[in-house]
Amino acid sequence: MPDAHMTDLPAARPAIAALPPYVPGARGTADAAPPVKLSSNESPDAPLPSVIEALEGAARGINRYPDMGASEVTARIAREVGREPAEVVVGAGSVAVLAHILQAYTGPGDEVMFAWRSFEAYPILTRIAGAEPVMVPLTSDARHDLGAMAAAVTSRTRVVMLCSPNNPTGPTLSQAELDSFMASVPSRVLVVLDEAYLEYVRAEDVADGPASLDRYPNLMLLRTFSKAYGLAGLRVGYAVGPEALVAPVRACVTPFSVSGPAQLAAITSLDARDELEERAAHIVAERDRVVAALLAAGWDVPDAQGNFVWLAVGDATADLAAHLGGADPAVLVRPFVGEGVRVTIGAPAENDAFLARLATWPGRA
Ligand SMILES: *Cc1c(COP(=O)(O)O)cnc(C)c1O
Repeated sequence: MPDAHMTDLPAARPAIAALPPYVPGARGTADAAPPVKLSSNESPDAPLPSVIEALEGAARGINRYPDMGASEVTARIAREVGREPAEVVVGAGSVAVLAHILQAYTGPGDEVMFAWRSFEAYPILTRIAGAEPVMVPLTSDARHDLGAMAAAVTSRTRVVMLCSPNNPTGPTLSQAELDSFMASVPSRVLVVLDEAYLEYVRAEDVADGPASLDRYPNLMLLRTFSKAYGLAGLRVGYAVGPEALVAPVRACVTPFSVSGPAQLAAITSLDARDELEERAAHIVAERDRVVAALLAAGWDVPDAQGNFVWLAVGDATADLAAHLGGADPAVLVRPFVGEGVRVTIGAPAENDAFLARLATWPGRA
């Protein structure tokens, strides 16, 4: 029996103890054939040679702390988006930047609103900040219901997350939708437009983030190097917004959390933007091919503007994911039990493996 003084152990805050575990995309097992990994919306391409070369050089400096303010990469990003460095804050992935935004702007008693289903980090980060998630169901065509979201704003609403394209369903927000939403939301509410999949968007009416910053003083954009820029493993993301709104976020950033190699890889990737956009264009072509094949096979697919497609199979979700995972090699996807399966667009042969295995699923009504 432990001593009496040991039975009274430190307790996490109730909001933390109640968190659902974050479910990462399936990774496969070491002993099986390498799986077709379509579960985490990553780029299928190997890093650019220029990025590898930059990283090899940067590796020689890792006995030193990185530039704490990440000033060079911040300035480079600012130039890229046509803003001032003071309007950009860089963090260890855009999920970390969002955590800092919520830390800076919310706390107990506050509400953070977002569509649902959307990015699964939103409710978790909201709870960690001590605030309450308010989740507004998507429309039947898997889009944000901005009318319902505007109507759900209360005096406690501090932050609204908009995800365009929406992960995991795919549709973007149009400029007209964003404009009417911004007009109906009080300016004391911070609106964060998460553009993680921006480079894959081909919808002509998509909301223009940087142009919208000029119009709305309570808007911030959230962007990442993890998807089209292929740096998911290095952790670099950023937010852009008015200087006065960005400064408190910067104050929350964990010191030195963006490593020197990560800063350099991000700069090198911006310098190679044309190459990376060409890669994104290949993914877009593959996405359109996969969507066309799905539609031809009778599937109903929401407008896919990211590097993924959404199959809303409801109660059959776990069964479909298991069927795809039972292929040889396994096709790993991201199931949201009871709702649907998100499938990342990979290399052509990977997408073919997915389509071929899907065609043999007996669960299709
Ligand atoms: C993948 C993703 C991110 C990026 O996360 P990082 O932390 O930058 O890797 C952000 N938002 C959404 C909606 C995503 O799907």
